[in-house]
Amino acid sequence: MKKRVLVTGGAGFVGSHLCERLLADGCEVLCADHYQTGRPSNIEHLLHHHRFTSLQHDITLPLAVEVDQIYNLACPASPVHYQADPIQTIKTNVLGAINMLDLAKRTKATILQASTSEVYGDPQIHPQPETYWGHVNPIGLRSCYDEGKRCAETLFFDYHRQYGVNIKVARIFNTYGPRMRQDDGRVVSNFIVQALNGEAITIYGDGQQTRSFCYVDDIVDGLVRLMKTPDPITGPVNLGNPAEVTMQALADVIVNLTSSGSQRVHVALPADDPHRRQPDITVAKTMLSWTPSTPLTIGLQKTIQYFADHIRASAQ
Ligand code: UDP
Repeated sequence: MKKRVLVTGGAGFVGSHLCERLLADGCEVLCADHYQTGRPSNIEHLLHHHRFTSLQHDITLPLAVEVDQIYNLACPASPVHYQADPIQTIKTNVLGAINMLDLAKRTKATILQASTSEVYGDPQIHPQPETYWGHVNPIGLRSCYDEGKRCAETLFFDYHRQYGVNIKVARIFNTYGPRMRQDDGRVVSNFIVQALNGEAITIYGDGQQTRSFCYVDDIVDGLVRLMKTPDPITGPVNLGNPAEVTMQALADVIVNLTSSGSQRVHVALPADDPHRRQPDITVAKTMLSWTPSTPLTIGLQKTIQYFADHIRASAQ
């Protein structure tokens, strides 16, 4: 029988790629999004598909549908967007998790939580394994997201222990690719758009902080593999590309790939900006036989192409 799959945040950057993948795998897909940062244009090409349904819904409110699997991705993920309305962000993470877990409990669906490397905060252990409890400021500007996601993980494990809900928790590290918003505010989209427009590349701080960037198709594949694991497996599982780069080096790669004449400017580092971040993916490798396959330059080329097309189209 076809699996009926709910994707919350399905019109977002990662969500829309996941919807595509699930349709290709033969699932019936119900995409729920209330378009805070998700965009109708991300799923426009799927609307005609006979196994695809789109629903405008805010997961801070209960949802009554019949499904076999739930991917809970709904939440703005870029610091600029999740800090714009921090109360809504924490509600989406906490009330949204409760509503989706109640739905999973009633329908006996397996539910996957899109958690984040932000649960590790500004890490004191490097690279970060799943066993690391993190180093998070509970009252800072990033807390609505970091602590919201941490609380969601707690809720997932309590619903699992108390009610026997089948849960899967993925901790997603920095992800990039086509359909990131031009105004996303994240480093990959900012640098690419600035480079393509010949504007100054805004490096926050000294640019020596690191991140590890994973191409969106690899993340989607990891999520699907995690959902397919037998029920005793819950995670949390890190999903990310261990190739670590400084923001300075990322700027150099993007300037080279775009043949841009952009200058670099250094601007103030945002509060609580983590210094280093790199996933330890031993668990994903052994448990999911998953390893990211897209090198940074290849993924960046595809993303640059997407933004170049996008900028050209909006200029017409
Ligand atoms: N960053 C930057 N220039 C920008 C946007 C971000 O140097 O225009 C830096 C930011 O300070 C951080 C890193 O890039 O150290 C990644 O930021 P992003 O917002 O993409 O993700 P997150 O901080 O959530 O990992």
